Amino acid sequence: MKKKLRFNSSVIHGGQSPDLAYGAVMPPIYQTSTYAQKAPGDHKGYEYSRTHNPTRTALEKSLAEIEEGSYGFAFSSGLSAIDAIMKLFTPGDEIISTNDLYGGSFRLFNKIFKKFGYKFHFVDMQNVENIFNLITEKTKLIWIETPTNPMMNIIDIKSVVKYAKERKILVAVDNTFSSPFLQQPLLLGADIVMHSATKYLSGHSDVILGAIVVNDLNLSEKLAFIQNASGAVPGPMDSYLTLRGIKTLHVRMQRHCENARAIAEFLSSHSAIKKVYWPGFKSHPNHEIAKSQMKDFGAMISFIPQDLSYKTALKVIKKLKIFTLAESLGGVESLVGHPASMTHASIPKRDREIVGVIDSLVRFSVGIEDLEDLVEDIDQALK
Ligand SMILES: *Cc1c(COP(=O)(O)O)cnc(C)c1O
Repeated sequence: MKKKLRFNSSVIHGGQSPDLAYGAVMPPIYQTSTYAQKAPGDHKGYEYSRTHNPTRTALEKSLAEIEEGSYGFAFSSGLSAIDAIMKLFTPGDEIISTNDLYGGSFRLFNKIFKKFGYKFHFVDMQNVENIFNLITEKTKLIWIETPTNPMMNIIDIKSVVKYAKERKILVAVDNTFSSPFLQQPLLLGADIVMHSATKYLSGHSDVILGAIVVNDLNLSEKLAFIQNASGAVPGPMDSYLTLRGIKTLHVRMQRHCENARAIAEFLSSHSAIKKVYWPGFKSHPNHEIAKSQMKDFGAMISFIPQDLSYKTALKVIKKLKIFTLAESLGGVESLVGHPASMTHASIPKRDREIVGVIDSLVRFSVGIEDLEDLVEDIDQALK
């Protein structure tokens, strides 16, 4: 049996071995749609690239290893991965989801799957009791995102799992914000872990890709069927880029977290800032849970200016030079976003303000540049 690798080794070697054809150390980019067969059905395991492609297989094995799961699946985007998970269910099924949710997931649930007869409930999962009150015999899935976006609330994965297991309800975790470097939901008992690999996994803002990892054979067969039948697969080039990104996940995440910690502290001591949302603060309401289920506190920070005005928030965003105003997160470069008008624009104003996404909220994705440059940039913008 192959020796099980520790995390920092598995990101580099997980699922990969020198290429059988020429010994290429890096997985080749098999840019092909089809594969020669000796006789009908007599092939080397690959017949058509929607079903399988060797570059994608290498990525899928790597994804499974770094999430400590048995089966990995790559999709053409994070949302198409969520779409595939939703197709495990049928009309009438009920799904309980975090209320403070990635805007695109909310849109997919509410504007697409609701129409097909699915019933969604959106609740504040910081208090796990809120979930229990909504359970019926039709509840099939609990959808967790932690830390949440953009309020950085933390949900206690283990507590949700314990309750769900007793009732045979599946638990899925969108692990995009943490990456498996910080948090491995399958080890906490979740059934499904999902990623927008567009973010930290690929890490360089140059690819759109989604991932799912599970342990259960039956679940994996259903997902493989959906992946092939619906066909939202990534190409070999994007699979390769994601594999390349994963090889430095551990060193990037260390620096992301280091920089974020210093910036969160800088912001919270700044007189122009009213409130900073980052789970690493002892005063954060879910700090203890974050400490117990995450290795560090991540590199996403949200804040509001002292005067709570949209105008001030906009001014700060405009004055920043290194932090680029853009959608997305998790790349090596620092980005700034305005959730109310960008990532969360698809959520009605009243709904988003209930969870705290007010017009003056600003979100940072802290990159891995020199900390001093980042702090100086923020300082001049706040002045
Ligand atoms: C970006 C994102 C998604 C969607 O992923 P895409 O790759 O953009 O389709 C889902 N969940 C979270 C938390 C995200 O940040």
